Amino acid sequence: MEIRDIKSHLSILTVLQHYNLSANKNGMLNCPFHDDKSPSLKVYTNTHTFNCFGCGKAGDQIEFIQLKEKCSKHEAIVKAKSLVNPLHTVNPMPMEQTEVENPAKGGDKDLLPRLAVLGKVALDSKASFKRTAKARDYLRNRGLNPDKMEVGYIGTDFGKGWNKQLKESGLKLGILKKSRQDTIVPKLRNCVLFFTKNQKGQIIDVYGRSINPNGEGTSSKLSTGKHFY
Ligand SMILES: [Zn+2]
Repeated sequence: MEIRDIKSHLSILTVLQHYNLSANKNGMLNCPFHDDKSPSLKVYTNTHTFNCFGCGKAGDQIEFIQLKEKCSKHEAIVKAKSLVNPLHTVNPMPMEQTEVENPAKGGDKDLLPRLAVLGKVALDSKASFKRTAKARDYLRNRGLNPDKMEVGYIGTDFGKGWNKQLKESGLKLGILKKSRQDTIVPKLRNCVLFFTKNQKGQIIDVYGRSINPNGEGTSSKLSTGKHFY
């Protein structure tokens, strides 16, 4: 049985079930790969993939097993095979993956799906917004209530704690960039971030507005992704 056959006969929900996990009606569950207090892992039953907006873990049925068992890819495939019901065919992978747009298509296999990276950007920048007085003041000065808005803030330390995979993915998406000193820095530094969501509530775009006095009124967009403004 080829990997392709395994994947086309194994629902991501069967994999969840095997580990006594289940997704809520929005396809979300508490992520088993990080200390997750509220559901941040999303499963996509049309593509049989998953991604976590908290820790950035993402992949297909086999990768889920691999992460769960902390085993090799080969062992995960063997395990996946044992879960397959050959009489049950799940949806084939659709040609167009509009929801999970994977920058890995170009051969960069280690990059994370765009939605996972943007989910992480939102998570970190929202936390940063909460503790950044000048960002909150920026909204207040415009007559907006910072506590009622879902916005983020990107400071100079944004992305510092990210792992290599996240950083590489962030660079690819244009969230991060290489500085002249060849260090990795956030592209939308000192910007308040606004999010664009799809109907499922997933963040598909970000838009940054500089709060620097000399950058007053300027807005920046990320230029690499077609979804960015
Ligand atoms: Zn996670």
